[in-house]
Parts: sequence; C-alpha cells; structure tokens
Amino acid sequence: MTRSLRTHLLLLYVLLAVVSGIVIPLFSVWLSVNGFHEYQVQRRHANFEALADALTDLYSEDGKWDKRRVMDILRPAPQWMGMTIKLNNSDGENIFTLTPMSSFRRNRKHNENPAPRNGKSEFFNIKLSLDEKIIGFLNIERRMPTTTFEQAFSAYMIKRMMTGAVIMIIAACGLGFFVAGGLSRPVIRALERTRQISRGEYDLNSKIKNTGIREMDDLSRGVEDLSRSLAGQEKFRQRLMTDIAHELKTPLTATMTQIEAMADGVFEATPERLELCLSEMERLGNLIKSIESLTRLEGESLMIKLEHVNISEFLNSVLNTFEPLFKRDNINLIRKINNNITADIDPEQFRHVIDNLLSNALRYTPEGGSVETRLFKRDKNIIIEVEDTGTGIAPSDLPHIFDRFYRTDESRAKVTGGRGVGLAIARAAVEAHGGKISASSEYGKGSCFKIII
Ligand code: ADP
Repeated sequence: MTRSLRTHLLLLYVLLAVVSGIVIPLFSVWLSVNGFHEYQVQRRHANFEALADALTDLYSEDGKWDKRRVMDILRPAPQWMGMTIKLNNSDGENIFTLTPMSSFRRNRKHNENPAPRNGKSEFFNIKLSLDEKIIGFLNIERRMPTTTFEQAFSAYMIKRMMTGAVIMIIAACGLGFFVAGGLSRPVIRALERTRQISRGEYDLNSKIKNTGIREMDDLSRGVEDLSRSLAGQEKFRQRLMTDIAHELKTPLTATMTQIEAMADGVFEATPERLELCLSEMERLGNLIKSIESLTRLEGESLMIKLEHVNISEFLNSVLNTFEPLFKRDNINLIRKINNNITADIDPEQFRHVIDNLLSNALRYTPEGGSVETRLFKRDKNIIIEVEDTGTGIAPSDLPHIFDRFYRTDESRAKVTGGRGVGLAIARAAVEAHGGKISASSEYGKGSCFKIII
C-alpha cells in the first residue's frame, strides 16, 4: 500500500505524539509506583524489626513478659493501622493483641480514617529470641486495602495523562498537517515538473520557489537543470538531424544531377564527369564513416584499452607522418616536446585526437604560417598544445566547435573539406581518458588547442 508523503509525515507526527504523550509518561509512572511500593514494603519491615527488638529488650529487662509494659510498647500508633499484632509467649499463649479497631479508635483524633479493606491479608511471623532461647512469637496480620495508594496514584496519573495525550495528538495532527504540507508541496511540484518534462514541456522560464530546506531546493534545482539539459539535447538532436540531412543532400544532389544528365544524354559520360561523381560518392562515404565513428566512439568511450605509453615518442612519431604535408603546404612545424613523458592511454584513440588537431591546424593555416606542438608536465598533469597562426575562430563559434557537425560559416564557405565531427570525436576520446580538451583563439591570428590528462 502506498501512502502520500503528507499522510506519511502526519502519521509520523501522531506516532511521536503517542510515544511522547502516552508511552514515555506511562513508563515513568510505572517506575515511580514500583519504587514507592518497594519503599513502603521496606519501611514496614523496618517497623516490624524495631518492634521485635523493643519487645526482646523488654523481656531481657524483666526476665518475663509484663503485659502492662508490653501494652506501653504496643501502643496503637498510626504505623499499625489496619494490622492485628499478636504477641504469644514461647508456649504459644497470648500475651497481648492489638486489633485494628483499637488502632482506629486511638487515631481518630488524628483524623486518619482507615482505608477500606479488600478482605485479603498479609501475614508476618517473627520469632523473638534472647541468647538463642525462644522467648515468644510476634504474629502480624496486615489486611490489604481495596485500593493501595500506588493504585490510586497510577489511576489519577493515567487519567491526567490520557487527557494530555488527547490534547497532544490533536495538536500534533494540526501541526503535522501544516508541516507535512510544507514539506510535501515542493516534492509534489518537482513531480509535476518531471511529468511536464516527460511530455516534452520544458518551460525554461519556470522559477524555482525556495523552501528554505536545502535538499528540497536542491531537488527543484536538479529538476530544472534536467529540464534545461534535456531541452538543449532536444535542440541539439533536431540540429543534428538537419545537419546530417543537409550534409548528405549536397553530394547526393550533385551526383544525381550529373548521372541524370548523363542518362538523358544531356552530358556525355566522360571519365572526368564520372570521376566527379565518384569523388562526391567518396565524400558521402567519408561522411557516413564519420557519423559511424562518432556514434561508436561516444558509445564505447567507456571501453578504452589503456596502455602505458611514452607520449613524447608517440607524439614525435605522429608529427613525423605529418611533416611532409606541412612541408608541401609551406607551413613551419615546430616541436617543443619534453622527453620521456609517459601515461596510460589508448594509443589508437589518442592518435585520432592528435591527427585531428594537426589536420585542422594544417587546413586552417595559410601558407607561410607556423604550427607549434608542445608537450610538457605541470603538477601531475600532462599537457599537449597545438597552436597555429591560422584563421582563428570567431568568439561566437568558439563555444560550439566541439559540438557534432558544427562548422563555422567561414569553413563552410571555404569548403575546407571538414565534416564538423573531428573535434566532437576528439572530445569524446579525451574525456574517456578522464582528460579535458579546450580551445582558445584570436580571430584572424590563430588558435590554440589544449589537452590536459
Ligand atoms: P572539421 O572536420 O569541419 O574541421 P572539426 O570538428 O574538426 O570539424 O572542427 C569544427 C570546426 O572548428 C571547423 O569547422 C572549424 O571551423 C573550426 N576549427 C577547428 N580547428 C580549427 C583551427 N585550427 N583553426 C580555425 N578553425 C578551426
């Protein structure tokens, strides 16, 4: 059975009220009544012992039982109320008896009425002896009252407590109703927001109402963050689909137009025209490959195969393969590589990353420019930087260059051959290594890409 948070909290409040208003006081009453009862029993026993001692002393003084002197000691006194006390000699003959009635008569002047009795009695027999010789027997019968003081006290306390408990429960219900309402409201609001989000209603202007309860505010903030992130992803997904469609359409349309024209006999199927169609097809194939590798890399980013690699040597070997291309384009390739820097990386994935940065630097740096690759250690981090003196990236493009299929208008216009996925793949790979990749750029002057692992 599921209960609402509000009912749950309310029940908790009532439970607390019952425990603190009934269970705990009941236990304290039980403890004090028990303690008091124990005290009374001990006090009675002490009185009997004292009486027995006094009678024994009397006997030792007189050498026999003197009824008159016994009467002086066994005077009716309040402590003997409701008791029959008999003193018998060693032969069992009665010397003196103190009855409850005589006690009652004597104590009336003290205004002490005997408590009503319930008919049951308690017996105490004490053997009186002097020098190991039995001199008599003290038989005490205590008739039990129908209600003891302890019972009356507990009944009184329980009655008062019940009244208190009822008031406490009513107060707890009232208080619980407000407190539970205050606590459950933000949860209900967050729930309602998640339902809206699942229906695709992101409402990015939704305001968070602060409750003053940290966890509740964090929950609301978390839901709003989720909404923003999902809205962003949704936007990104839509843009991704448009971009893929656009990227696929251009080479497809170009090829189709060519082939149709050749089929209709408008153009002759010359080797050059067929070559053009083939290159468009290749472009298409490359694009599909990029999409494939991007999806695979993002999906498998958690399954990297780490190897202990000398990064200095690794980077130099990648630069060696690029050297002829840089020479061909007349771009100066500068290396500032510190020796013997090692790390655990997946060499295959890392090669893609460096390849991408160097191909971009090559692609976006004009003839006569230079590209500097640096490798060094700072604290516990290994830093790789690729800096070029190329076109640079406009500040408005900079935050997006690591997004999938993002290409600056400039690079589209120039038709640099890029697909806008290289940096997205690089970021996925670096992040899979627990590292970070970032870019800084001065538009028109050059860019610098930095990897920290
Ligand atoms: P592409 O394959 O189009 O180069 P990337 O993901 O590698 O895709 O890069 C995304 C965009 O970032 C590029 O289209 C380009 O506009 C910009 N860019 C990347 N590297 C550089 C660079 N070194 N200089 C200037 N712009 C760059």
